[in-house]
Amino acid sequence: MAKFVPDVTTNRWVIIAEGRIKRPSDVKPGTGVDKFCIFCPGYEKIPGVELYRTPDGEPSTVGWKVRVIANKYPITDFHEVIIHSPDDVLDLDKLSLDQVHQVLLTFKERFNYNAKNGHVLIFNNVGEAAGASISHPHSQLVVIPKQINLDTLAFEPVMNVIEESSHFCVFCPEFSQWPFETWIAPKNRGKYFGETSAEEVSDLAAVLQNTLRRLITHLTRGSHFHPGVPAVVFKNGPAYNFYIYHGQDWYIRIIPRLIHRAGFELGTGLSVNIIDPADAAVILKEEIK
Ligand SMILES: [Zn+2]
Repeated sequence: MAKFVPDVTTNRWVIIAEGRIKRPSDVKPGTGVDKFCIFCPGYEKIPGVELYRTPDGEPSTVGWKVRVIANKYPITDFHEVIIHSPDDVLDLDKLSLDQVHQVLLTFKERFNYNAKNGHVLIFNNVGEAAGASISHPHSQLVVIPKQINLDTLAFEPVMNVIEESSHFCVFCPEFSQWPFETWIAPKNRGKYFGETSAEEVSDLAAVLQNTLRRLITHLTRGSHFHPGVPAVVFKNGPAYNFYIYHGQDWYIRIIPRLIHRAGFELGTGLSVNIIDPADAAVILKEEIK
């Protein structure tokens, strides 16, 4: 069971979760798909208890599009794994638009299901540099007790716009802490993620996929030169995190993992961003969809 320990000097909390160290890791740069994967179809009975699947069907059998299981190595008492699709390799940037839509509908379903238990944080780690331990594309959902105050960023004003759809705005906030940090925010403000309309979720599928494609395309193609802007690229394939802000006035924050935080950042809590968000927005805007 997870223990929440207050750090009195910073008013932050530390989660002590001893079971986490035992979790399996199969993320190695350059490995192929020819391996045993417990998130692949056919192995449904091996990982944690199945909590949800789409479409509806017999739990722990094949035939699912998106599958949610309890995490065997939980960070907190409620910790779910959302498997993006039966495909072992394709992720949100490459899956069919309908599949991305199914994933987001599942996010919304599980967000609302878990909201009674605390703050619901949905996040996605891609690549070893981003902390992924199993490569089969998946996201995670962790519920943190309401009495734990979370150290979060408030919604930042829309600046440096990359793309606008009917319901969303994609931009690089002026106060970006990371190179090419990108936010997706609904135009209809003041809501929780779980309150998004069917039309918004459908629009978000396309917007999220486009945004990931822009980031991955740009940050994979090292030769793309922009005068005056430092060249940063993924070293071992795409590595990024995104999370859906748990509170009111929700947004999605995507952080490409291009640099490591070092002593200065750890010692001061200050972020050094080597890319001006205004430049990042211009560059990402130019990328093909
Ligand atoms: Zn797999």
